[in-house]
Amino acid sequence: MLYYPDSIAAIATAPGRGGVGVIRVSGKNIAPLIAGLVGRDLLPRHAHFARFRAADGSVLDEGLALYFPAPHSFTGEDVLELQGHGGPVVMKMLLARCVELGARHAEPGEFTKRAFLNGKLDLAQAEAVADLIDAQSEAAARSALKSLDGAFSREIHALVDGLINLRMLVEATLDFPEEEIDFLEAADAHGQLTGLQAQLSRVLDTATQGKLLREGMHVVLIGQPNVGKSSLMNALAGEEVAIVTEIAGTTRDTVRELILLDGVPVHVIDTAGLRETEDRVEQIGIERTWRAVEKADLALLLLDSREGVTAHDEAILARLPHGLPVLHVYNKIDLTGENPGRIGMGELHVSAQSGAGLPQLRECLLERVGWHGADEGTFIARERHLDAIRRAAVHLGTALSAYRQIEIMAEELRLAQNVLGEITGEFTPDDLLGVIFSRFCIGK
Ligand code: GDP
Ligand code: ZN
Repeated sequence: MLYYPDSIAAIATAPGRGGVGVIRVSGKNIAPLIAGLVGRDLLPRHAHFARFRAADGSVLDEGLALYFPAPHSFTGEDVLELQGHGGPVVMKMLLARCVELGARHAEPGEFTKRAFLNGKLDLAQAEAVADLIDAQSEAAARSALKSLDGAFSREIHALVDGLINLRMLVEATLDFPEEEIDFLEAADAHGQLTGLQAQLSRVLDTATQGKLLREGMHVVLIGQPNVGKSSLMNALAGEEVAIVTEIAGTTRDTVRELILLDGVPVHVIDTAGLRETEDRVEQIGIERTWRAVEKADLALLLLDSREGVTAHDEAILARLPHGLPVLHVYNKIDLTGENPGRIGMGELHVSAQSGAGLPQLRECLLERVGWHGADEGTFIARERHLDAIRRAAVHLGTALSAYRQIEIMAEELRLAQNVLGEITGEFTPDDLLGVIFSRFCIGK
């Protein structure tokens, strides 16, 4: 069954100029669009050179036309792709022509939403499309592709299959209560349940890594002028920073900086501007910084090892949110001769200049957020997914502690299955779908 009979069109390539620009159209019947634009039949999945025409027959642009008939397309509907010249005016004219021929402008993420609704992708895969586009590191991009490929969904399906097995056992026991114990014992329901718990916690662990690759960590950087904040950030970022700055649209303002540690995006909030001021504009910036500080995972207090903590540092520390962990990092040990590395809980000696102690600092930062490295199996994930996995774990825990209270077990297992279904989209409220797809870019 196809949803949304109307045709949608959008510019699929990024705004601006480029060698090629792509217009994408999807709908239940796009024959009138093909006729009006290209004026001839297109072989499915073949690249045709074509002239794209206006209503009066004049040529708007020329390029390649590709036709993907339903259901073998990204959206599961008929899809037409026009590859024209990548200029904003040309693209706008072609898009206007599509609208003239009956298509309407696609909403953000609407192509992917249709792919989801038509069963071409499940929800975790659809989200991975956006995460791949938004990836801030190679590791994040590779993990997003894993999820898009279904690696995450397969883990969830395996868990759901296990749950269904168990539910059948438990529900059979409900139907034949006199045989209660035997049924469950014979199939080792207890063993199955603890096995599922272990499996769930492995998935949670991998998903946690995937969420870190997607969202990274937020670090508040505190330190007096000249203690070496910029030097430290550059040294920590190493070669990876180059990748970040190359990514178009990555904003680098004075308040936030982005560096990558082992592929994990680290958002650094610079507190340099945090001081008393009468200047209204400056006050707005300061308020913004404090709001960013509220969401931080960790504060990094950078010190000159010859001076230690100053009164000014103390003043800022006192105003940090309660419970925010603080890492004391003593820099410039090349000048004092101290040994690099950790000195007890939350304290390190480093030299941003010589690089001494930096491996330990990287390790310490990543440890704080629970990172233990991406591997072949790491798929991208979101907080929404982690939340669902955690809730499923609670239901499994309740089922286990209610073991042999068959009705409670049956209900908890059912709830665990539903909660996991939220990840792949089997049980997802419409308003949540709206939120997820509205954060996509247009044309995807
Ligand atoms: P910021 O104002 O905190 O950002 O400090 P900068 O990174 O701009 O560094 C201030 C000065 O300290 C510069 O001259 C750096 O070269 C120097 N510096 C930074 N880190 C070290 C270090 O580990 N050892 C030494 N000897 N000098 C450093
Ligand atoms: Zn600086």
